[in-house]
Amino acid sequence: MEELRNIPFGKPVMGEPEQAAVLQVMAGGILVHGPKTEEFEQSFAAWTGAPHAVAVSSCTAGMHLVYFALGIGAGDEVIVPAQTHAATAHAVELAGARAVFVDAENATGNIDVDAIAAAVTPRTRAIAVVHYLGVPVDMEAVNAVARHHGLLVVEDCALAVGTQIGGQHAGLSGDVGCFSFYPVKHMTTAEGGIVLTRDAALAQKLKLLRAFGVDRHMGQRATPGEYDVVALGFNYRMSEIEAAIGIEQVKRLDGFLARRRANYRVLRVALARLKSVELFSTDGGESESAYCLSMLLPEELAERRKDIIASLKAQGVGTSIYYPRPVPAMTYYREKYGTRPGDFPVAERISRCSIALPVGPHLAEDDMFYIAAAIERSLAQLG
Ligand SMILES: *Cc1c(COP(=O)(O)O)cnc(C)c1O
Repeated sequence: MEELRNIPFGKPVMGEPEQAAVLQVMAGGILVHGPKTEEFEQSFAAWTGAPHAVAVSSCTAGMHLVYFALGIGAGDEVIVPAQTHAATAHAVELAGARAVFVDAENATGNIDVDAIAAAVTPRTRAIAVVHYLGVPVDMEAVNAVARHHGLLVVEDCALAVGTQIGGQHAGLSGDVGCFSFYPVKHMTTAEGGIVLTRDAALAQKLKLLRAFGVDRHMGQRATPGEYDVVALGFNYRMSEIEAAIGIEQVKRLDGFLARRRANYRVLRVALARLKSVELFSTDGGESESAYCLSMLLPEELAERRKDIIASLKAQGVGTSIYYPRPVPAMTYYREKYGTRPGDFPVAERISRCSIALPVGPHLAEDDMFYIAAAIERSLAQLG
């Protein structure tokens, strides 16, 4: 057998440039409301082609801030995919609105766009979509439903750095796009997020509300300590240290993405040979962000998933599950909304049968062959 490797599911790639940037901020003494946050916003906006970018403390904070700023709250409904991170629905609930879940489609795990219209009611204010594992949602179809019913469109782009939709970056086809810089995502600021929008007035409002609704910040005050509060708001800012890391990470993004897509394609080809696993109809192409490669076990092996995961772990291959249950089946939502087994059959199957495999830039092409061989051995061991 080959030598044992250590292949974590996700591992931030950072080094000397990020370290130097952090030390520089610490030496300068400006830790919030400084030039690094603005520079980071500009660099991420330039990289994605976004007219406006507002850095925030996380993707979840960004989505909550967006609903709050758009006046979505009690009595309102927002359509949310069942197959996503809890944060997509939590942001709606935190705003006081109700999440109305829609099942996934088989081919990609993305929200079933054909089922969205049927979920619209007179209370619906917005449609939230998630580019699941970085595969673009059919935004033309989503926007058509939204236009027809006068709804806002929020893109949860936490897994979609690099995802391209109709010649533009994810997050720019709807009204807003929210990104995550949590450690295992495409790039990191430790904790952090950013909101992209084409709407200058909305960007201005988000900047006001992310910092208490205070009308002027340190550098803008004629008399130190003198300011007014013109709106209700949060403390959802990004710090200068996080922004400084982010500036360096954006410089590496093209390389990160090329590595991910190349790894994804190699692993996909290697896995396509295995008869007992099914793959989504995605290819790690230029429109996808290749967050990870999720393989689906046949129903009869679903109960053995934990054994396969344990066997892979013993061979040094880290895995994850995106996501372990449909959000409406998580205890909080199940108890609140009375979800029953079978309500979201496609999301349930993906949750029950999938194993997410690493393709991140911490890994080389050679690691993909190792992962595929490890999977083959794990499946063979099941007997
Ligand atoms: C990771 C993730 C989030 C949460 O991002 P944070 O920056 O940790 O708030 C939200 N949505 C999706 C789809 C995610 O994968």
